[in-house]
This record gives sequence, structure tokens and C-alpha cells, in this order.
Amino acid sequence: MTVAPNFQFHNGVLHAEQCSLEDLAKEHGTPLYVYSRKALKDAWDSYEQAKQGRDVLVCYGMKANSNLAILRELANHGAGFDIVSGGELARVIAAGGDPRKVVFSGVGKQRWEIEAALDAQIKCFNVESKNELLHIAQIAADKKCVAPISLRVNPDVDAHTHPYISTGLKDNKFGIAIEDAPDVYALAAQHPQLNIVGVDCHIGSQITEISPYLDALDKLLNLIDTLAKQGIQLSHLDLGGGLGIRYTDETPATPTMLLTEVFKALDARGLAHLQLVLEPGRSMVGNAGVLLTRVEYLKPSEAKNFAIVDAAMNDLIRPTLYDAWHDVEAVSPRQSGTTALEYDIVGPICESGDWLARGRKLALEQNDLLAIMSAGAYGFTMASNYNTRPRAAEILVDGTTAHVVRPREDLHSLFASERLLP
Ligand SMILES: *Cc1c(COP(=O)(O)O)cnc(C)c1O
Repeated sequence: MTVAPNFQFHNGVLHAEQCSLEDLAKEHGTPLYVYSRKALKDAWDSYEQAKQGRDVLVCYGMKANSNLAILRELANHGAGFDIVSGGELARVIAAGGDPRKVVFSGVGKQRWEIEAALDAQIKCFNVESKNELLHIAQIAADKKCVAPISLRVNPDVDAHTHPYISTGLKDNKFGIAIEDAPDVYALAAQHPQLNIVGVDCHIGSQITEISPYLDALDKLLNLIDTLAKQGIQLSHLDLGGGLGIRYTDETPATPTMLLTEVFKALDARGLAHLQLVLEPGRSMVGNAGVLLTRVEYLKPSEAKNFAIVDAAMNDLIRPTLYDAWHDVEAVSPRQSGTTALEYDIVGPICESGDWLARGRKLALEQNDLLAIMSAGAYGFTMASNYNTRPRAAEILVDGTTAHVVRPREDLHSLFASERLLP
């Protein structure tokens, strides 16, 4: 089976870099998220190389994994951040990120969030509707400042991905229909409280081919021509995030493959001077993390064999939410004496939707340790306390050292802020 580059077997035991996952599970308990610092650096470097010396700002789509230690690593590498809430802005600032490299996306920005972003002097708002534009202008007027804005346009392209993570089609809630964009830009251009700086799109997630990006880019470049005729000049073009990763046998396009084609298109249209902004989330962290979980009970039945593990849909919701496939590895695969069976790997939560993987052929005994691979993106950030389950601890491995970057939640903290009636 495929194992991510920084997660390899040594002497029959799966490791994160030089740390044995058996040892980490023994010391820190399960379920446990384990990230590799090296994998994060490798992913960052793949974007660095793709820049080919040109002006490209990588704004990490931080909703994929927003642990402060991960944000600090990326900030130290020079990353900007794509945020979708005031909470994420607070995290960027707490992690030492540079607000001037922050772009703020999302369809429902509230007043307090817009105020906080203006106070922090972010790079720009990626505005998703005309009414949001007017709201931002009003708040900027109240604060006697000027808001930098870019319109997130909806280019109506099919990213060939799961409907829940496709965002660039006409019937999605995201962005301003590309036909309407010239009028909204014209409105913005007249407004003294708004400064137009760019154009933006984000067409979906886990996109493995380049063609949807190039379709969207073509439409954005046409829009830029139209705007130029209206006397509106932009300084950046933001192509969003969405590059896919390998979960099983995908061969996703690399940042270099994508940017090589994007630069060609920009050059052909005489737009080489535009700064390019990207918002990668999954491709930065997805294969930098695994979720460790221990088998509590094996439950064979006539119809199915269940391996009931101590991680659940509250820890990793992607399988049940998106029908997502994660590779499952035995951390210490059994060599003999145990028959491999097809198992559904399920959690203890009282929902039939509580499954992590289905129909996996594994030789298992109770108490065995499993690694759910490619869990670095949209894993912990989507975790909840459903069934009053404490959220897992998070570990960032650096060579032979394992750092706890978030301890396991303790039970008391789960209801400590709740109040009884007087
Ligand atoms: C989620 C999101 C991203 C990151 O997407 P990935 O598929 O994880 O790369 C980038 N931009 C916006 C606006 C998003 O909503």
C-alpha cells in the first residue's frame, strides 16, 4: 500500500520521520494526531520551487489545519494565510503570522470580523457578494479607513470533484457570478472607502488535474481585459487553493505543473506583472499527518466484520461526510498467525455513519494500533466533542523528537463553562 514519504516502516514498525508510532501511542495515548515537520517543509518547498523566481504569494488555506505550531512553521517559511473567520485571524496573529499577507474569504463576514481585519491591516478582503462589498465600505467609512478589496468571482467551471467540495459552479453559494463582476467592480471603483487590489476565485478542493484551473484562469483573464477597458487596474490575481493529494492511487498535478501553465497564460496576455496569489490548504498538510487509533474490539458477524477502534467520526469526519477514502495501515503489521479479513473500521459513536474505512483487508487482533493515513488536512480542524468525547492530542514530530502541540482535552474542560439554572 502507499505510505506517505515521511511515514515509513523501519524494522516492521511505521514511523513518523524517526519516531516510532508505537512509542508515540504508548506515551501519549490514542486517538492521536501525528504530524511530520519535514513533510510540511517538503510541501512548502514544492510551492517555493514552483514560483520559478516570480512574484507569487502563497496564502495557506488554514482551515485545513490551524494548529498554532503548524501556522508558526509556515509563517517562518514566509507564508501568508487565507482566512475564513475572525477566529482564524486571531490564530494567525497568535502564531506570529503577518496580517499584511492575509486574504479574507467567506460568504458571511460579520461586522466584528471585518473590523478586526481592518484593524489588523490585512492584504485584502475576497468579497463574495455586492451586499458584502457595501457592508465593508460602510464599516471602513465608520472607521475612517480604506478597505483593500478583491472580488471572488464564480467562473462556473466544473472542478470534477466531490459536490460538497466543489465551489466554482453557478449553483454554489460562493463568489460573484463572473458576468456580474464588471458592474460590481465599477461600483467599488466609485467608492472612496474601497481600494480595488485584485481578483480571486477558488473552484473546489482535491482537484487533481490542471484543466479546471486553466478554464477558470481564462475567464479571469477576460475579466481583467474588460476591467482594463473600464480603467480598473489590478495588482494581483488569486487562483485559490484546491490542489489534490494522493489518498490512494491519485496522481495529482504538482504546483510546478500548475504554475508553469499559469505563467504561460499570463505571459501570453501581457499580464506577467500581476502578482499571483495561491491559497493551498490540503496540499500543504494533508500528507503531513496521520491519525493513530487502537482496536478496542473485533466484532465478527454474519454480514460483516467490524473492527471497533477508539477514534471516531468526531475525530475524523471526512469518510462519513464526503465518502472520503483514507488508507489504513497496521502500525506493526502481523507477519503470521492471524488471518487477514475484510473489516469495517468503525468508532464508538452512536451513529451508523460513524465509520473511518470500510471493507479493508487487515490481519488484526484486539489492541492493535492502526494509522489512518493522509489525515493532516480537515482532520483535527473538523473534530468535535460529539458524545462528550475529548478531542485527540496533536504531536508534531521533528526527526527523533516529538513535540506535543496540543494536549488531549481533559473531560472536565468539556463542560467546565456550562452553567446550571439558579
Ligand atoms: C478551503 C479553501 C481553501 C483551501 O482549499 P484546499 O482544497 O484545502 O487547498 C482555499 N481558499 C478558500 C477560499 C477556501 O475556502
